[in-house]
Amino acid sequence: MEKTLHLVSLGCNKNLVDSEVMLGRLQDYTLTDDASSADVLIVNTCGFIGAAKEESLDTIFSLHEQRKKDSLLVVSGCLTQRYKEELQKELQEVDLFTGVGDYDKIDEIIRKKTNTFSNSTYLINDEQRVITGSNHHTYIKLSEGCNQTCSFCAIPGFKGKLHSRGLESIKKELIRLVSQGFYDFSFISQDSSSYLRDLDVKDGLIDLIDMAEEIDGVKSARILYLYPTTTTDKLIQRIINSKVFHNYFDMPIQHINDAMLKRMKRGANRKRILEQLKMMREANDSFLRTGFIVGHPKESEEEFEELCDSVEKFDFDRVSIFAYSDEEDTLAYTMEDKIQKSVIDERIKKLNKIVEEKVEKSLRKEIGHEITIVTEGESSEHEFLIGAKKLSWDRDIDGEILINDSQIGKLEISQCYKAQVTQLAGDKLLATVTKSA
Ligand code: SF4
Repeated sequence: MEKTLHLVSLGCNKNLVDSEVMLGRLQDYTLTDDASSADVLIVNTCGFIGAAKEESLDTIFSLHEQRKKDSLLVVSGCLTQRYKEELQKELQEVDLFTGVGDYDKIDEIIRKKTNTFSNSTYLINDEQRVITGSNHHTYIKLSEGCNQTCSFCAIPGFKGKLHSRGLESIKKELIRLVSQGFYDFSFISQDSSSYLRDLDVKDGLIDLIDMAEEIDGVKSARILYLYPTTTTDKLIQRIINSKVFHNYFDMPIQHINDAMLKRMKRGANRKRILEQLKMMREANDSFLRTGFIVGHPKESEEEFEELCDSVEKFDFDRVSIFAYSDEEDTLAYTMEDKIQKSVIDERIKKLNKIVEEKVEKSLRKEIGHEITIVTEGESSEHEFLIGAKKLSWDRDIDGEILINDSQIGKLEISQCYKAQVTQLAGDKLLATVTKSA
């Protein structure tokens, strides 16, 4: 009898890689988008802040509502890892629980119908994934866990200490993926610039870049989640010198005021961060993405104004803004002078406005230029428009380019082309393909 599987992967791209590992273990199932007909339903949850936890619970309840009799509802991931006792007691809707340690054993967990929580955090090694969402791009996990101690973050509490993946393991996976047609890669972890530091290697990312550049077929790459104190000038320069890695710099800085950075236990100060950002910005065709937390305990109006002022003055291309989430088992949770929600909302509204102007400026910069794009499929706007992204951008988070004309006739999907950017329509660029890249 054909067995069907419905899987929902929530949260970050690191969680997506783990979901793909589970799909790799469950290849004897047929995937279905229809939750009401699935024999097995899996929710790979996210559990690091309030909003994400809520989304995970809502998804579990909604799938329970939809599912057919005698189906199996399995919940995995960060939410179950963080609250394993409470959830196993309270969530009667769920049939099987597992956390972040057993993705490569999901087939066994389902066969034996046993809740499973290994002590260590699972880190992909040689397992075959079922890549989702693209035929040319995928995420490559560098490590699991984190040695940083940011005041607001619960992740080290349930994902554990930094545990880097060996270069050989990554090399093997890259070679395998290239043989399957993939050529664009995003290297990810919680703290990528600390890669291999747990193995006493200072600039492990430089070794990674050297290795990846040697692999024929790795045409395009970027590194996400750099951490300020472990991002050296040598690393930034190595990225700039690379022919394969784009001058794509994703470094969440969370704040810019020195007193706030200290309270957040970020380790880096304003002067050093601005030095790094300046070096990155001066690189050719560079792309800068960062993230800020608004409303951390004790954040004064002046400190917030300093943040707004620095975002106003510096040209980031993309910025994620998070409202501070009061997470038990974090240092910030024990702090006094919590900021009222209404004040946080006001501050986010103000910072968002500045960021929108910066993003628009970043997009307008492309107009009139010929850039390298990669086609991704039918656009989100209209079936007659092809959706694409600038090759250097990351997938799904940096925006969509609408291809509304081609000077070379029919276009293939997952292919690179040169395109002339003609205009900005809302938050989307329009472009005409001129030739193959
Ligand atoms: S770097 Fe900081 S914010 Fe990121 S996972 Fe580690 S502790 Fe959390």
